[in-house]
This record gives sequence, C-alpha cells and structure tokens, in this order.
Amino acid sequence: MTDWKEEILKKWNRQSPRKVEISDKLRDRLVCELKGEVFYKEPMSRHTSVRTGGIADIYFKPSNIEDIKTIYRIVKEENIPLFIHGLGSNTLVRDGGIRGIVVTLSQLKKIEKVAEGEDYADILVESGVGINRFVNLSCELGLTGSEELIGIPGSIGGAIAMNAGARGVEIKDLIREVTLLTEEGELKNISREKLDFTYRHLKISKGSVILCGLFRLKKGDPKAIASRLEDFQKKRVETQPINYPNMGSVFKNPQTDSKKTTKVYAAQLIEEAGLKNIRVGGARVSPKHANFIINEKDATAKDVLVLIGLMKDKVKEKTGILLELEVKVIGED
Ligand SMILES: Cc1cc2nc3c(=O)[nH]c(=O)nc-3n(C[C@H](O)[C@H](O)[C@H](O)COP(=O)(O)OP(=O)(O)OC[C@H]3O[C@@H](n4cnc5c(N)ncnc54)[C@H](O)[C@@H]3O)c2cc1C
Repeated sequence: MTDWKEEILKKWNRQSPRKVEISDKLRDRLVCELKGEVFYKEPMSRHTSVRTGGIADIYFKPSNIEDIKTIYRIVKEENIPLFIHGLGSNTLVRDGGIRGIVVTLSQLKKIEKVAEGEDYADILVESGVGINRFVNLSCELGLTGSEELIGIPGSIGGAIAMNAGARGVEIKDLIREVTLLTEEGELKNISREKLDFTYRHLKISKGSVILCGLFRLKKGDPKAIASRLEDFQKKRVETQPINYPNMGSVFKNPQTDSKKTTKVYAAQLIEEAGLKNIRVGGARVSPKHANFIINEKDATAKDVLVLIGLMKDKVKEKTGILLELEVKVIGED
C-alpha cells in the first residue's frame, strides 16, 4: 500500500481491538438460552449492501423479543460487545470484522393496520420489515405520505434509527410512536413529541434497540398514489448507481444555515473537487452520483475507507467544509 493510503487510514480513530473468546461455556449458553439462529464466524459481506467487510465472531437472529432480552443479559454477564444491525444498507464493516455479537432484528417482520379514522390509518411496523414492503403495503391500502421513501433498501428499524428520508420526506414526518427495548430489558413506548430526530439521526438511550414504529398515514386517491410511487421509483433509478453494490450516500449534506436546512449537496462538493469516477482498488466514486461509492470489483473495506478519506480531504482543502459521514463504520482493521 502506498504511503498516502496509509496516511489516510491512520487518521481514522478506532477503539483498540478487543478479543472475544467464544468459549464452550458461551456456546452452550447460546444454544440453551436462545431460540433464534446463531451463526459463528459469519462474513459481514453477506449482510452489507456494499458487500465488503470481515467476519463477525457471532451473528444472531433473535426469533422474538424474549430472545433479545436474553442476549442483552448474556452480553452483560459475559462482557461481550453487542452491535445492532438492520439490513446493512448504510453500514461499512472494516476488513478485520467484528469482535462480539451482531444482532439483527430481521426476523421481526409483523406489519399491520392497527387503527383507522375518517382520513387516516395507523400502521404498526416491526423493525425487521423492509422499508419498501412498508411503502408498498401502505400504498396498496390507499394510504399516502410514504411514497417518497420507495427504493430505500433498509429495514424499518434502520430507517427509524437513521431518520431516513428522500425528496423532502423523513421518517420523523410519518411516525407517531417508537417502541424501544433498553439495555436493562425494559420496554418503552416513546411518542413523537418526545423523540429527538435530527437529520439522518434519532437519539436513543445508549444500548437501546428499536423494536417497532407506529406510523400514521393519510387516506388518498389510489390512482394518484400509484402514479407518485412510480415517479419516485423512476427518479431513483435515474439518479442512483443501483446496479452496483453500494451503501447509499456516504456523507450527509452539509447543513450550513441556522435552520439547518440543506444549502449545499455533498455530491456537488465531491464532484467539484474532481473526484467523480476516481478508483481505489475495487472501489470507485460513482460516475452517476458522486456521493456514492460503488463496489465495482471485489473491493475491500480498506479501499472504500481510503476513498472516503480522499473525498473528505479534497473537499476540505477546496471549500473548507468538513464532510460528515452518514454511513456507519464499524469493526476492526
Ligand atoms: C442504493 C441505496 C440508496 C439509499 N437511499 C437512501 C435515501 O434515499 N435516503 C436515506 O435516508 N437513506 C438511503 N440509503 C441508506 C439506507 O438505506 C438507510 O439509512 C436505511 O434506513 C438503513 O437501514 P438498514 O436496516 O440497512 O440499517 P443498517 O445499515 O443495518 O444500520 C444503520 C444504523 O442503524 C442502526 N440500527 C439498525 N436497526 C436498528 C434497530 N432496530 N434499533 C436500533 N438501531 C438500529 C445500526 O446500529 C446502525 O447504526 C440508501 C442506501 C442504499 C444502498
């Protein structure tokens, strides 16, 4: 690796690696106390949309809430790091993988209409439901408001955690209540007024996991809804490099005025810094959308990180603006 690549990688401040020993005792506990599936030495490239990332010591799919409570108790007693994972569409796992247990809520897939008024309906959506399933089902039910989100490839849990959004609509605009399970195993329903959403972020207490969200959508004209859905889907295909593995927007758009509204787009700054199309190893700044890094051919997480460092440095040098990552980077070198 060339010096400048090493230099960029050094800038990433990481926690020192921690060894997690999967002892026989721990294996026995996982087998006896959990109902869901447990995978050992699981490649995270299988669980991230950019298809890079090393091996997780343990990857766990709880089959119900009791299972999540149990794993929280086990990691506390055994002093093991725990990582909550959705569908990995906004996550980059470093090549050294994850020391600890990755927990995904992909098995929590219930979605149902729970209340209805004259002009609205409330939909309860568990965290493992795909965003697109939620949007499509809402539209099939003649409900409007979520069409802009069509094509976002994550889970509802990830979307709530990230306050995902597109074309002026964010999760915060549709949600009425979020149910959390705290580190202590306590269930908490938090109403919209008390939820601290900011751009691509929901602040929740440390170690908590989002179990489900209650959404309120308005009743609308089914034909108009179907046409909006088609429009937004088309726009996404036109503007995003969906034919290659990627992790969505790498950086947040800088929020430069006092009201925190978007004044300038990260993609534009990256393009103006001359970085569109640039390659490191198998990773490339997308020629279609400069805020996307695509895995063109067998990219490593290191390739992607070097590109990220380069994008940050060049934009800072040219404009003075420090780009902030939207993507979550986890794991060891
Ligand atoms: C092609 C493409 C297009 C995209 N377009 C958009 C877009 O238009 N708008 C947009 O906002 N995003 C977009 N994204 C990014 C991504 O899809 C969203 O951020 C999505 O909401 C992430 O969901 P996930 O389940 O994949 O989360 P993950 O990547 O698995 O996790 C993201 C973060 O959420 C946390 N998390 C996940 N589930 C839970 C849970 N149940 N409880 C607590 N924390 C949790 C994780 O710990 C992590 O910190 C795009 C991504 C791709 C690949």
